[in-house]
Amino acid sequence: MTGNPDGGAPVGEVVEVEEWAKPLPGLDNVNEHYWRTARAGRLLIQECPRCGHRQWYPRALCTACGGDPAWLETAGRGVVHTYTVIRQQGIPAFKAELPYVVAMVELEEGPMVFGSMPGVDPALVSIGTPVEVWFAAAADDTGVPYWRPR
Ligand SMILES: [Zn+2]
Repeated sequence: MTGNPDGGAPVGEVVEVEEWAKPLPGLDNVNEHYWRTARAGRLLIQECPRCGHRQWYPRALCTACGGDPAWLETAGRGVVHTYTVIRQQGIPAFKAELPYVVAMVELEEGPMVFGSMPGVDPALVSIGTPVEVWFAAAADDTGVPYWRPR
């Protein structure tokens, strides 16, 4: 994968977390850069230098042509494409946030990203709601992108 790994500016607030109790993503050579840059307040997608296809989440290959995708900085903004409200959840770290919205966000750059909106009153969310990213500092090497109305 190509693209500037260290070049972007933060696009969203990074909120420190006292103790992260939710599962952490398993970092690997495809997604590690994504999670590390999220820890720095940046939201990346991938763009294929060969065909121009943009995709999220990080993958080793372009899903359109099989090319080698490059990283692309986003502005961390989009609109809610669709969403659901989670009202039951047995895992304690999630249960504490009930009810919360999980949304498909259509980024200004095109791709859809899947994300949670903890702390946001579900009554404030509808299809088309403009949203912005923020990040929970889940670990030293991992930021978790979340969304809120802007
Ligand atoms: Zn491609």
